[in-house]
Amino acid sequence: MFKQKVIQDKVALITGGGTGLGLEIAKVFAGQGAGIALTSRSMAHLTAGEKEISKITDRVFSVACDVREPEQVSRMKEAVLERFGRIDILVNNAAGNFIYPADRLPLKGWKSVIDIVLNGSFYCSQIVGREMIKQKYGRIVNILATYAWTGGPGTIHSASAKAGVLAMTRTLAVEWAQYGIRVNAVAPGAFDTVGASQRLWPSEDIKQRLVDEIPLKRFARTQEVSNAVLYLISPYADYINGECLTIDGGAWLGKGIGNMNEVLERFVELREQSRKARQNGD
Ligand code: NAP
Repeated sequence: MFKQKVIQDKVALITGGGTGLGLEIAKVFAGQGAGIALTSRSMAHLTAGEKEISKITDRVFSVACDVREPEQVSRMKEAVLERFGRIDILVNNAAGNFIYPADRLPLKGWKSVIDIVLNGSFYCSQIVGREMIKQKYGRIVNILATYAWTGGPGTIHSASAKAGVLAMTRTLAVEWAQYGIRVNAVAPGAFDTVGASQRLWPSEDIKQRLVDEIPLKRFARTQEVSNAVLYLISPYADYINGECLTIDGGAWLGKGIGNMNEVLERFVELREQSRKARQNGD
């Protein structure tokens, strides 16, 4: 994206960095000269991600961690410090999500998404932020979704958690600016990743209805989102703090909630069909 390597010698920690958008962000950062630390729960995701990044840089490291567990986050931070000596950039990208009507959402599903997205982003920000405060330098980007402020049928758990992370972004931005730490967010519209397509648009008709809602008539590309994250942590954004950059092709501005309610009903129908198929042993 930039001609010069704008984050040469910096170290970036990316949660959920072994797959999807997190891995794409890691690749873009690696191309700009940063050392890369990836973390998530699955070693299989991390090993595959590390292999991809090692095609770009040998300054890559991964460590397993469940961001819902503050002790694991502390151990993960220590491991990254042992490898690189510092952490300059944190991207809170790890998330869990699935579509479910609020009145039927199992409480364990609610708790799990709140734990990963809201609590996990806070644990990582606090634990890594303390190092950034000592260094008097840090860049944090939180990955949100536009339903943090629009709401979205079937997303009560994720929307509530992302709204909390938006408030966290703004609060840390004003609290930590004095330490040379900037905190911003990116709110992408829909983009295709293995995780998202399985969980969020499991059939072509649902996907088409989502695309129809977008003024630009296509999903975002992961590289478009990761370039925006790079911009926010780069020196070109040195006066941007507490901001949320939306990258959704104009979707939330022209949002048609009526259609989204139909999409939610289609989810319920598909889930019921697969439940019946399982019962019949198909
Ligand atoms: P993804 O590939 O499924 O990424 C989610 C990542 O989070 C995975 O690498 C997963 O790795 C990690 N993760 C889940 N639970 C975790 C936990 N407890 N501790 C640590 N890591 C955990 O999905 P994606 O589509 O790239 O999404 C990336 C981000 O973009 C998310 O914040 C999502 O909300 C946001 N977003 C996505 C879309 C979209 O359309 N795709 C739209 C708006 C916003 P492990 O399984 O190895 O733990």
